[in-house]
Amino acid sequence: MNRISLVIIQSSVLIEFAINYIYTLNKEVKRQYRMILSFVFMNNLSDEFFMNEALNQARLAANILEVPIGAVIVRNQEIISYGYNKKETFKNSLHHAEIIAINEACKKLGTWRLCDCELFVTLEPCPMCAGAIINSRISRVIFGTEDLKSGACGSVLNLFDLSFNHRPKVTRGILREQCSSILSDFFKNLRKR
Ligand SMILES: [Zn+2]
Repeated sequence: MNRISLVIIQSSVLIEFAINYIYTLNKEVKRQYRMILSFVFMNNLSDEFFMNEALNQARLAANILEVPIGAVIVRNQEIISYGYNKKETFKNSLHHAEIIAINEACKKLGTWRLCDCELFVTLEPCPMCAGAIINSRISRVIFGTEDLKSGACGSVLNLFDLSFNHRPKVTRGILREQCSSILSDFFKNLRKR
């Protein structure tokens, strides 16, 4: 990637960040902005761009005092579903960001097969979510920061390395610092309360 592309990506992440803080802009404006970006990059938006969207989801979780973990599912460079942790809201351990995003993607696409989809998530998936990812045939998982206590994509174990009938590709460490600090800041603030 040349230097100009890199500068454009960095600027686009900043602009995206600004847009998410301008509540007066509606979804249609955001969609058109993403279409322009995807045209500029010849339909090749970066992993950082989509991880930033997952981070925005994590911020929504933090706003309602949920542990800030966010996810998006992308197909053909388009975000088809969003999810953030809602375990406390529903008092239910199944409501992880990834499960919510997978659920929405299946509803939207009308199928359980998400073969041509990629899942971006701020924290390494747990065994439950890694299992759901295998079962839904997601082609690639991109996560931000490692979960040393319950990560199932290499930290505690690697479910994607075992001989199941589907083995998603994994990309780790995208926007690792931001994905990690949103969690540590959240717990720091919680202790102050
Ligand atoms: Zn999980």
